[in-house]
Amino acid sequence: MTAASDLIASAKQYTLSVYRQRELVLERGQGVRVWDTDGREYIDLSAGIAVCGLGHNDPDLTAALIEQAGKLWHTSNIFYSEPPLRLSQELVEASRFASRAFLCNSGAEANEAAIKLVRKWAAEQGRGPDKRVIVTFRGSFHGRTLATVTATAQPKYQEGYEPLPGGFRYVDFNDLAQLEAAMAHGDVAAVMIEPVQGEGGVVPAAPGYLKAIEALCRQHDALLLLDEIQCGMGRTGALFAHWHDGVTPDIVTLAKSLGGGLPIGAMLVGSRVAEVMQFGAHGTTFGGNPLASAVARVALAKLGSEAIAQNVARQAEALRAALARIDAELALFSEIRGRGLMIGAVLRPEHAGQAAAILDQCAAHGLLLLQAGPDVLRFVPALNLTEADLAEGLSRFEAALRAWKAAR
Ligand SMILES: *Cc1c(COP(=O)(O)O)cnc(C)c1O
Repeated sequence: MTAASDLIASAKQYTLSVYRQRELVLERGQGVRVWDTDGREYIDLSAGIAVCGLGHNDPDLTAALIEQAGKLWHTSNIFYSEPPLRLSQELVEASRFASRAFLCNSGAEANEAAIKLVRKWAAEQGRGPDKRVIVTFRGSFHGRTLATVTATAQPKYQEGYEPLPGGFRYVDFNDLAQLEAAMAHGDVAAVMIEPVQGEGGVVPAAPGYLKAIEALCRQHDALLLLDEIQCGMGRTGALFAHWHDGVTPDIVTLAKSLGGGLPIGAMLVGSRVAEVMQFGAHGTTFGGNPLASAVARVALAKLGSEAIAQNVARQAEALRAALARIDAELALFSEIRGRGLMIGAVLRPEHAGQAAAILDQCAAHGLLLLQAGPDVLRFVPALNLTEADLAEGLSRFEAALRAWKAAR
């Protein structure tokens, strides 16, 4: 028995079966490459679901982690420590809109905090519980806690978990008329949206859509809550995805790339809602943990740099050009969509449901890739990947596609 099959057998016996992992055990990573326990090398264009924004084992992140590990790991939020305070200030200053930050451990927690804040804000304004509706969008993904899975307007994540908390209303993404109708009742406290839907298929908000939502929010005295957990931290070519849209949100949530691989989330709040949450209103034991915060500070500085923005633009163009060329030969995609280095290749109707089978071939050809639903291949690589790394990944991608086609 190899080490890998032993570990996989153990996983199947002892872990809750909520994931369906590929049958390989990853052991180490360097940049855009990872190696499994059998010594096989992979190009990783998934980056741990858009988490390892600087690739694996980035020397600056590792140095920050080691330095902090020798000083202080954890204090709880009963006491101050420097890394989370610095990180909060740096996030607020980088954001161009926020006055305060709340640090937590994951995306779901950041969104959970935002949902609570919206309700508390509405309550302070004298709005009763039935007038604190949060509008979200079909195809969205906001997390797996009960409130965030209810905000996630996709039945597949909700079924069996009823009763779900109330107070959410769903409309179609990129449909303005539906949103107008949903807000006409005067009971909406916030609109919660991903500037680029991730899990729902890599779908960007249409040009002008966020701007129109912002106007509707102002008109109806509702908050604009942006979930940038996947599309933020430089992924679209701007530190915050909504910078492309020229809107000023009230709340933005971050996680995924924020810690460069360490678990951390953040909720940033603008001046309108900055004083809503006071002593005792919310909290977390681990949130803003010094280790995660020390690393996130370095990740923020690097991911917010002009060099990263330029590289995202350059490699995104190269990736799109390659996908177009591959499609011209193999006729696989109906659409290439996304923003920056968050790109979805939508399979043509005749290949519907084949994303998982294609990803199997990718892994067999030394490439780690993601899907976003059954019909979309999702590229969310490290934002500092080089042209050569991308080219190597794409050549493996093409080989995988040919093998998949031949096997059909
Ligand atoms: C991943 C994700 C979440 C949930 O984050 P977790 O850390 O898994 O809880 C929320 N919103 C978006 C847009 C995401 O991509």
